[in-house]
Amino acid sequence: MAALDFDVAVIGAGPAGSTAALAMVKSGLRVAIIDQVGFPRDKICGDAVAAYASKVLATISPAFRTEFERFAQRRPVHTCRVFAPNGHWLDFRFSETGNIIKRIDLDNFLFQLATRHEHVTPITGTRVNSVRYHQHDNRWELRTPAGGLSARLLIGCDGANSVVTKQVSDGRLIQPHHSAAVRAYFTGVEEVNPESFELHFISEFQRGYFWIFPEWDGSFNVGLGGLTQYISKNNINLKDILQQIISHHPTISPRFQKARQITEVKGFGLPLGSRKIPISGTGWMLCGDAAHLIDPLTGEGIGQAMVSGRYAGWKAVECFKRNNFTSAFMKSYDKQVYNKFWASHRKSYLLQKYVVPRFGLFNQVVVWAQRYPGFHRWLHRAVV
Ligand SMILES: Cc1cc2nc3c(=O)[nH]c(=O)nc-3n(C[C@H](O)[C@H](O)[C@H](O)COP(=O)(O)OP(=O)(O)OC[C@H]3O[C@@H](n4cnc5c(N)ncnc54)[C@H](O)[C@@H]3O)c2cc1C
Repeated sequence: MAALDFDVAVIGAGPAGSTAALAMVKSGLRVAIIDQVGFPRDKICGDAVAAYASKVLATISPAFRTEFERFAQRRPVHTCRVFAPNGHWLDFRFSETGNIIKRIDLDNFLFQLATRHEHVTPITGTRVNSVRYHQHDNRWELRTPAGGLSARLLIGCDGANSVVTKQVSDGRLIQPHHSAAVRAYFTGVEEVNPESFELHFISEFQRGYFWIFPEWDGSFNVGLGGLTQYISKNNINLKDILQQIISHHPTISPRFQKARQITEVKGFGLPLGSRKIPISGTGWMLCGDAAHLIDPLTGEGIGQAMVSGRYAGWKAVECFKRNNFTSAFMKSYDKQVYNKFWASHRKSYLLQKYVVPRFGLFNQVVVWAQRYPGFHRWLHRAVV
């Protein structure tokens, strides 16, 4: 690749990167969106997409929401069924419909939506190895195995192991603020409500949960994830525990009697949003997992990736309009992102730390909520 020059370089074309690019398509800015792999590509994930994802697209352009709603490869879901360790469960009904979408489909949809615009240049199969800011011309230099490229503004959307975060901010893995999870696809799981997420809190795994999410094509996304600190302290092998649950758990294993595992079990890390890191500076912003924005209780990060990507795209347009790329000017991006997510991430962190591991209390809360509808309603408001 010859040296290429852009206004904005977006590194990573997951939900954060593609949404950031989408938010800039009408600006006329020359945007490069660079990913180490080609699309469609898979991402290890539970595939549960927040209901507000379509609203994020609508705020960029109503036409994008229309296309998203026409997108057929998704399973609409209306409830989340939460199983306490004693096997009692509660349904939490969403006020808006969420979706389960295989990441290979969702990310390709967003990537195609963004890159069909003339000012957005996709550069795939190209890993960014390093980024460097040159003060003499106020430009970023991006190094890839194929050569270099440069840009005035950098948006790091390169996920949980972000090269950009490590080089410009704080990419340390701090165990109490990090989770790990594994997942595989199955067919033939029985007694699954096709319109519901299922979360199981399990006695043998105290700081996380097991999930079953039904996909549009009849398969199931099945996984297990939890706090890295707990996993590492107890020397837990997530793949083994997943297998044990499927084979031996008294209420779950009977539902897998006729099931077939159709992909291998794969794992990945989740940088949680319970610790603030700098997410902007002179000429740069971070979004999604690169900005450590995953909900500490549920492990959701797709919605956060899209929201932060949109804010970053809009902020980039403002930077060029005002010709201001200073860290002081960028700070409103951090403020916007943390105003949106910090309070709910903090609540999730506290629930995850103090309520979930107290199984006696957790079991009792579910029994009370089943018995007293008023308490169930209050709990719904407090948690969802
Ligand atoms: C097992 C598991 C289950 C999960 N379940 C859910 C769920 O059900 N719902 C939910 O909302 N969230 C879930 N998450 C979290 C969710 O997957 C992430 O929050 C989401 O993918 C973040 O999107 P992103 O765009 O920031 O990063 P990513 O989706 O990771 O995209 C980053 C992109 O950057 C590219 N890239 C990385 N490094 C480089 C580089 N150096 N150069 C060029 N390109 C690079 C990658 O190829 C990738 O395409 C789960 C996570 C895990 C691990």
